[in-house]
Amino acid sequence: MNPVRLALLGGLLYIAYRLLVGAGKKKRTEEQTAPSDLSSSKGMDILVEDPVCHTLVPREQACFLRHNNQSYYFCSDTCCQRFLTEKGDKN
Ligand SMILES: [Zn+2]
Repeated sequence: MNPVRLALLGGLLYIAYRLLVGAGKKKRTEEQTAPSDLSSSKGMDILVEDPVCHTLVPREQACFLRHNNQSYYFCSDTCCQRFLTEKGDKN
């Protein structure tokens, strides 16, 4: 029996135990990211009609155009461009 050896072994076991517990106890720093839906922001309920393809689009997502003191909303920039082209053709 070697008391020093036993003490060392005990120490090692203790360290090992602490490491295991420490690893398991590792605090979860995961921030509780609230489901902050950007798409669910206010204004989504307001639908506007695209004058080109007649699609209803949420105003917040629509492509806004001010033309001849009138406000137009488009589903995409493509429709906006088409609208301007068609308007321009009339001149
Ligand atoms: Zn469109």
